[in-house]
Amino acid sequence: MTYQYDLIAIGGGSGGVAGARRAAKHGAKCAVVEFDRLGGTCVNRGCVPKKVMWYGAHIAHTLKDAAGYGFDVQKNGFDWTKLVTDRENYIRRLNGIYEKNLAKENVEFLAGFGSLVDAHTVKVGENTYTTERILLAPGGTPTVPQIPGADLGITSDGFFELTEMPSKVAVVGAGYIAVELAGMLHSLGADVSLVIRREHFLREFDEILSGTLTQIMHDEGLKIINNTELKELKSVSGGINVITQDERDLGEFDQVIWAIGRSPLSEGLNLQNAGVEVDKNGYIPTDKWQSTNVDNIFAIGDVTGREQLTPVAIAAGRRLAERLYAGMTDRHLNYDNIASIVFSHPPMGAVGMTEAQAREKYDDDVKVYKATFTPMYHAFTAHPQKTAMKLVVTGKEEKVVGVHLIGAGVDEMLQGFAVAVKMGATKSDFDDTVAIHPTSSEELVTLV
Ligand code: FAD
Ligand code: NDP
Repeated sequence: MTYQYDLIAIGGGSGGVAGARRAAKHGAKCAVVEFDRLGGTCVNRGCVPKKVMWYGAHIAHTLKDAAGYGFDVQKNGFDWTKLVTDRENYIRRLNGIYEKNLAKENVEFLAGFGSLVDAHTVKVGENTYTTERILLAPGGTPTVPQIPGADLGITSDGFFELTEMPSKVAVVGAGYIAVELAGMLHSLGADVSLVIRREHFLREFDEILSGTLTQIMHDEGLKIINNTELKELKSVSGGINVITQDERDLGEFDQVIWAIGRSPLSEGLNLQNAGVEVDKNGYIPTDKWQSTNVDNIFAIGDVTGREQLTPVAIAAGRRLAERLYAGMTDRHLNYDNIASIVFSHPPMGAVGMTEAQAREKYDDDVKVYKATFTPMYHAFTAHPQKTAMKLVVTGKEEKVVGVHLIGAGVDEMLQGFAVAVKMGATKSDFDDTVAIHPTSSEELVTLV
């Protein structure tokens, strides 16, 4: 049987584009189907616009810190609209680069909504295309709770559409997005309440990180309303009224942002036409080869329900393409020890196991090395933010199984240490590495 394509990727985001481009590089005839702008969540409504706003918030901090270094700076305002306009223009340029890169690699761009007719046929709008293999990479979308008035709130998608800065905001949720959006809005001058349903946010991270960030947020006046679940949002003349399950009125806000997780976009794909299984939450289960239960259909990225990170989707897509089209028969993504950063203020990040996870796995055979200090930069600022670090090691050889960092600069610090952990470094490897002075990162190779 001959097909029009070797591979069609549904989804022109991080995973779909990376997988199709790498497959085409190795000679496959490929197409990418996308109904929205190319680049997916990361480029249009995720990492990229988020990082631009984070940089803006970072500058707000730097302006506050400047006096400590002898600068007499007068801030005359902050133009949210300018930053957002320039950010969106930058993203349009990225959309164009994505399109050019597909063309450069001879990957066809099929604009429209894709769905399966059968295991070898994809429908895009009114057209159908046959293909030997299908790569499912539709990503996900923000979850909105099913409570009265929920539609009065916005999600991260709506946040990136705001053309004016909100002055009083409730951010609901306890994950990456809630902490990042709350932090940047607060830094840019909004009155922010972070509403979390349990005691702490970012519970999957080591407690040294969430604990340190909680303290910093308290010190800087960002309100954390914990152990609170919401019952209802009401429209009132002053904005949106937020009512809790136990009938407390949290007050009026001009924006309420839902950041309570994301759901996979698997529903409209007509997966049943090809017999592709999904789990109860709509995620598409895959094995270590990114294979679904149907031989010629693969899935990568957020829709698989594993680590929802851009480099993960890209790495899975590229490795799959190399296995299928470059003869690298064992090539697959190992999901262990994937580093990530939460772009809070200050940033925090980790690779490997938390102390609690290590103790659960290795019982008493676990030791931690940690430090909390004020970095030199903050010796001169009015609002010093602490840095905290923890190494989790196990066994007689003290293999480093976890690195946990929060503080100025850790976003650029972690990647190199992730290489060390991936290579199986021990505490003595860290100690044998001569420090770079004066930096915060040198603490990690001098911990006792
Ligand atoms: P996506 O990038 O979402 O791409 C899927 C694409 O498929 C979309 O363009 C969608 O329109 C399209 N699509 C869906 N269904 C169909 C269909 N039926 N037909 C045609 N097209 C379809 N990750 C990081 O690593 N670092 C960060 O700093 C970071 N920040 C983030 C901030 C926010 C606010 C959010 C929401 C996410 C962030 N992420 C970050 C996560 C990251 O964006 C995702 O993990 C990544 O985009 C997943 O890639 P993907 O290819 O699986 O899906
Ligand atoms: P997350 O899955 O990170 O966190 C959502 C959290 O919200 C849950 O863990 C839960 O925490 C809480 N929650 C769930 N339901 C409710 C509810 N009904 N009411 C109140 N709180 C609730 O989701 P995000 O939306 O923050 O982000 C999605 C993913 O995107 C992330 O997991 C991450 O992989 C990726 N991302 C990565 C970034 C980065 O790399 N810097 C930045 C942004 C996103 P609890 O159980 O403690 O209440």
